[in-house]
Amino acid sequence: MIKRIPIIETTEKTGQLVKLNGWVHSRRDHGKIIFIDLRDKSGLIQIVFLPENKEIYQLANALRPEWVISLEGKVQNRPKGMENPKIPTGKIEVAVEKLEILNQAKTPPFEISEEKEINEEVRLKYRYLDLRRERMKNNLILRHKVVKFIRDFMNDKGFLEIETPILTKATPEGARDYIVPSRIYPGKFYALPQSPQQYKQLLMVAGLEKYFQIARCFRDEDTRGDRQPEFTQLDIEMSFITQDDILNLIEELYIEIAEKVAHKKVLQKPFPKFTYKEAMEKFSDDKFDLRKEKDPDVLAFAWVVDFPLFEKTETKELTSSHHPFTAPKDGDLHLLKSNNPKDLLKIRSWQHDLVCNGYEVGGGSIRITNPKIQSRIFEILGHSKEEIHRKFGHLLTAFEYGVPPHGGIATGIDRLLSILADEPNIREIMAFPKTGDGRDLMMSAPNEVSPAQLKELRIKAAK
Ligand code: ASP
Repeated sequence: MIKRIPIIETTEKTGQLVKLNGWVHSRRDHGKIIFIDLRDKSGLIQIVFLPENKEIYQLANALRPEWVISLEGKVQNRPKGMENPKIPTGKIEVAVEKLEILNQAKTPPFEISEEKEINEEVRLKYRYLDLRRERMKNNLILRHKVVKFIRDFMNDKGFLEIETPILTKATPEGARDYIVPSRIYPGKFYALPQSPQQYKQLLMVAGLEKYFQIARCFRDEDTRGDRQPEFTQLDIEMSFITQDDILNLIEELYIEIAEKVAHKKVLQKPFPKFTYKEAMEKFSDDKFDLRKEKDPDVLAFAWVVDFPLFEKTETKELTSSHHPFTAPKDGDLHLLKSNNPKDLLKIRSWQHDLVCNGYEVGGGSIRITNPKIQSRIFEILGHSKEEIHRKFGHLLTAFEYGVPPHGGIATGIDRLLSILADEPNIREIMAFPKTGDGRDLMMSAPNEVSPAQLKELRIKAAK
């Protein structure tokens, strides 16, 4: 028996017998000759069935798009004038000598082989078919390459990839938490992490110095634009560093990703840096696009720093511009003593945001490591002493045991990829995204659970 090879390798096998497996991509009949394009993960190739070979020809006659087949045949040059310069195997074809139908397929709800506009709800319901399409496959390949590049890069810089829990306690990043009821402790709940923020800071207390993770984050937000309830960040934390060390690391990584992996041009190197005030004066926005022509092959990165530590919520209370672990700038520390919101709003912080082509693609900060300053910030944010202890006691206690100065950043992998792939939204670069309003149409989630399950959890759904 011969060993199956990927379709792309047939380009080096002219004159040889090969075995191929895959899906019928399309079928064309020319007179008596049946042509199909066979597709596997590596590409497409033309397959020819001649009427002379009766048994196989009859079997081939039944073939329909998306049937799964296995075949053996000879790789041969296509007749002159029949070449297809658009595909790598365009000069050759395979004349079949053995054919096996592995599985039949229903007619798909949309054409896999054509790049047409397809209703997105249908695409998401049949995502496994949508992902068969060239565009989606290429996006997943790009995603893999970028993540692999990040892992290698971070490893070379001496970072450890460490996993942090998904079932955990709330970590505020400005959104609502997804919560999971505990069966063993009725009435108690885990929260899914809005980010690994507290864990990564605790890893610094643990002395690991350089942490990173390709981290899944969960945020229950009202449907606002192009957001997903769960998304992926490159999450980083480092000890004994300055803000510039963090910015330089990301800058080096992102330039390499843009140029080496995605073959794009970076508009300005080093990335220009604006204070929040400058950005607001110049662009009236802290997410801006520095490109004159909106060329998708050009990436215009920029840093924004010196954000205000606090901002006002709609109900006029103070909230963190970033999150409550971000350190105030040393020169503004004296203002922390004030109870006047006017003074507090003047405090600048060590927050840094990365923007690219009009999107915020990352953010982070130097952290508070002084338990007194941290408690004061929680107090300003309106937490009572009891609440501070209950919600963040573990962090404050940890900081009493020798905490190194530290800081970090998290950058959005999905957003970066949508920019690199020039896709209009982040759903296009995720394998299994949810709709804009948070539904998984393929799995039908969210969904009711059985009364028995609710009973076990001692939960009653309110009507
Ligand atoms: N945890 C922050 C976020 O998700 C990032 C950071 O401060 O490192 O935005």
